[in-house]
Amino acid sequence: MAKPKVAFYWCASCGGCEEAVVDLNEDILKVVEAVDIVFWPVALDFKKKDVEAMKDREIAVSFINGAIRTKEQEEMVKLFRRKSGLIVAFGSCAHLGGIPGLANFWNKDTIFTRAYKTVPSIANPEGIVPQQKTEVPEGELTLPEFYDTVKTLDQTIDVDYYLPGCAPPPDLIVNAVTAILEGKLPEKGAVLAPEKSLCDTCPRGEKKPEKISMKEIKRPHEIMIDPEKCFLEQGIICLGPATRSGCGERCINANMPCRGCFGPNKEVTDQGAKGLSAIASILGVEDEEKMSEEDMQKLIDQIVDPAGTFYRFSLPSSLLRRKKL
Ligand code: SF4
Ligand code: SF4
Repeated sequence: MAKPKVAFYWCASCGGCEEAVVDLNEDILKVVEAVDIVFWPVALDFKKKDVEAMKDREIAVSFINGAIRTKEQEEMVKLFRRKSGLIVAFGSCAHLGGIPGLANFWNKDTIFTRAYKTVPSIANPEGIVPQQKTEVPEGELTLPEFYDTVKTLDQTIDVDYYLPGCAPPPDLIVNAVTAILEGKLPEKGAVLAPEKSLCDTCPRGEKKPEKISMKEIKRPHEIMIDPEKCFLEQGIICLGPATRSGCGERCINANMPCRGCFGPNKEVTDQGAKGLSAIASILGVEDEEKMSEEDMQKLIDQIVDPAGTFYRFSLPSSLLRRKKL
């Protein structure tokens, strides 16, 4: 019997999601045994024309990582949508926009100006920026259009399932592949990870005091972090209250706060707003009357890069989506 065909594709991302597949270690052999990988640019030399030659929906499932930043990425994911039975948004960038989505605080012109003209390490006296078409003696060179706005995968094509995380952990990948192969998938649109919030599974949650008051805000490098205590108790912003569990508390176990890469739970529309409200509710001294407006402002000012802190992985999927420039 023919094995189900599977494809992997990579859009605007760091490549960590590709590593996550390799991180399956010996489990990758089970995957390779069970499926026929028909496209995987990082590892196999198939071409776009090979996908174009396939029948519509011939690929059982395509795992697509990365956000959508260029026209080429948009065209490729639309091709995979046509050729695939299922599309899985793989990792934070495809799911929520991810770190590349923070570029939505700028646009193409401001990004190009910074990257090619004003960044201190650049030497570009002629101020050359990438062009879509460049004539060279050998012919015309082309680059895909670079869009102003970074989009999530589901803002570009219909997505069937989401595998969250930066990068998704091996156990969730194996569970997802197994569920697909056995036809035991949940309802369309589901995030293939537990519904609990990270605070519910965090080992520091049990010892967390009933009431926490953040009287000052610190960044992780500014204090010796107690590995037993909740980060919030120590004045460090942790997005555990606004983040879905399932990562195995990777950052917490490395004594770092959660930055929110798994995205929000089902009932949360805007992860950044949820995180902001969780922190705002514990900011200050216990008796609010004791804190002047000025002192409160000073405390709020201790939050370095609030937009980047609360929307680190989720800006394109949030209610804000992008900054109006
Ligand atoms: S806020 Fe962070 S450290 Fe505290 S319980 Fe939640 S996930 Fe754990
Ligand atoms: S602790 Fe938070 S940021 Fe770290 S892997 Fe888990 S969900 Fe992602």
